Amino acid sequence: MRSVSLRAMIRGFAAGLDWAGIGRVVQRGARRRVGRAAGVVVAIALGLTPPGFAEVPPDGAAETLGPDAEAPGPDAETSAEASRDPGATTEKGEVVRPLPPHAPDWGPLTFLGDEIPPGESRSLRFESLDHFTAGLVTMRGVAPGPTLCVTAGVHGDELNGIAIARRLIDETDPAALAGTLIVVPIVNAYGFRNGSRYLPDRRDLNRYFPGNPRGSAAARIAYQFFEQVVRRCDSLVDLHTGSLNRANLPQIRTDLSVIDNLRLAWGFSIEHVIHNIGQPGTLRRAATDAGVATVLYEAGEPGRIDQEQIERGVAAIGATLGSLGMTQSGAVTPVVQRLYGRTQWVRSDASGIYVPFVELGDTVDVGQRVAEVTDPFSSEHVEIRTPVAGLVIGMALGQVVIPGFALLHIGIEAAPAPVLRSADGPPPPPGDDATPRKQSEADRLRAELADERPE
Ligand SMILES: [Zn+2]
Repeated sequence: MRSVSLRAMIRGFAAGLDWAGIGRVVQRGARRRVGRAAGVVVAIALGLTPPGFAEVPPDGAAETLGPDAEAPGPDAETSAEASRDPGATTEKGEVVRPLPPHAPDWGPLTFLGDEIPPGESRSLRFESLDHFTAGLVTMRGVAPGPTLCVTAGVHGDELNGIAIARRLIDETDPAALAGTLIVVPIVNAYGFRNGSRYLPDRRDLNRYFPGNPRGSAAARIAYQFFEQVVRRCDSLVDLHTGSLNRANLPQIRTDLSVIDNLRLAWGFSIEHVIHNIGQPGTLRRAATDAGVATVLYEAGEPGRIDQEQIERGVAAIGATLGSLGMTQSGAVTPVVQRLYGRTQWVRSDASGIYVPFVELGDTVDVGQRVAEVTDPFSSEHVEIRTPVAGLVIGMALGQVVIPGFALLHIGIEAAPAPVLRSADGPPPPPGDDATPRKQSEADRLRAELADERPE
């Protein structure tokens, strides 16, 4: 199988960049993300070797101030200079940069009705409807930097992400942090208490972003969360697992046509990177459309704690903090990232008991026998063969299936079309909840079956 690394794709971008689009982006110089994007583009164009953004000193503090920060004062320049310090190298060859010195301009953060001084963290509560609240922890670093948000439990039964978020809270010291870290371990507390993916009305919260203040309960919760929390983030990592008896290989999914997403994916030390713009209504699609760099991390299956995948997720977010210049260490475990420009589900054409013959992470060839579906009454076997070659990035666990059921998710290595999405594109449509929504169980099942990339 042809192997396409993220690094190779970056070169592809450089060869076919939409320079007019970039020019428009650069002209919008007031936006904080432009400095970074332009820096990356320039680095690529010059043929530098930026991979592992840890090697690239963080942007000046003046460019990376979060949306809550005051305007940079006279000391901002000093901080910017300090943050360009290439840093010392340890015996292992890891680059360790000093944090910028405490900047007087970097004051307390006012967020959700509380004030958080530099170097401290607070447990806060996000409140939406009468009984809908979600706990979150906000850490205000001691030096200027971006705001990274980490969300988990948008689906209440996806436990790996919740455990990763908890670990992040326990292991991050705000006194050693630049910028602001906002961690929401359980967005959908209703679902979590009930061991359910859904809200109490069986709606999937991750289909209602950016929400609607006058819509359904799901749309209102999505709206409040998006306005109060998500819009405060410069970057967002949303943590998920497979859905409903399906498991996923650890992977990130993001719209790589947005250069800030590309940068975030680059710093996130996970091997498998899937280019996918995301379904309308998902948190990551809405956040990307709102100018928040977003990646989604998928690992494992719902309802289970998988310690190995949790460790991987914690390490990857640690690497992300380093790549964003929010922690001192640039010690990112080198990971050769593989890019999947396309994915395809292998579906069942029969009803019965499904038994897979492959595992997550297996490579499959065209026509390979990957599963069997057996009619429990006639004992007739139907072989399932994959129509495409690639890597098994997700799969249904053994169970009873019906025709059309999505069995195996195959990642196809390729680079997406090298076109950068312009930041001047048309604004996203307003959150529309006028659509659906008397969803019966049958409708819901049909939607699940049609759902190519549940997340
Ligand atoms: Zn999910």
